[in-house]
Amino acid sequence: MRLLVVEDEPDLLAGLVSALRRQGYAVDAAADGEEGLFKAQAADYDAIVLDVMLPRLDGWELLARLREAKATPVLMLTARDRSADRVRGLDTGADDYLVKPFDNAELFARLRAIIRRSTRQTRSLLVIGEVQLDTAARTVTRAGQPVTLTAREYIVLEYLALHRGEVVTRTDLYEHLFDENDDTLSNVLDVHVFNLRKKLGQEFILTRRGHGYSIA
Ligand code: CA
Repeated sequence: MRLLVVEDEPDLLAGLVSALRRQGYAVDAAADGEEGLFKAQAADYDAIVLDVMLPRLDGWELLARLREAKATPVLMLTARDRSADRVRGLDTGADDYLVKPFDNAELFARLRAIIRRSTRQTRSLLVIGEVQLDTAARTVTRAGQPVTLTAREYIVLEYLALHRGEVVTRTDLYEHLFDENDDTLSNVLDVHVFNLRKKLGQEFILTRRGHGYSIA
């Protein structure tokens, strides 16, 4: 899952980006509204965390312009608990909002929820044969036994599972799982797939030669 965070307070932006990366997300950052709109239009993010008060272009205007073309899930950050702000955000097409200051755990939960809704997945449990993914707790079991995955392995698995039955191309995976600052070593998709097969079964992830991967 690849996210965009648009926030002009440098400490908050850096903190959010690193916290979300530790959750296994690929994360791009923008420090003002114009940069945010540009990136949001240029890439297909799985969700956007959008501050309301931004220089150059505020969060509402950014959202209104984005919605002319894209339905990317948006979680807005409002500075105060003002119901007028919340109503305006939701009317403009925000999927949810969070009032500053907030706990990261709540941010993570709300992001998972808006991403889940956007993939039309209503339940947080994905069952694929003997493998179960709990996308709320981010845990995986195989035949009832817990499977330990790295954050990156989990996110690769979750992306394939959410697109079950489709061929997911390597380009899709790179675009959704790796961010603009990722170094090449952490990008080795084949290594993640190799490790996932070792843990979940060789046939669990199929290689579609010349196209990509799929989970049947
Ligand atoms: Ca701000």
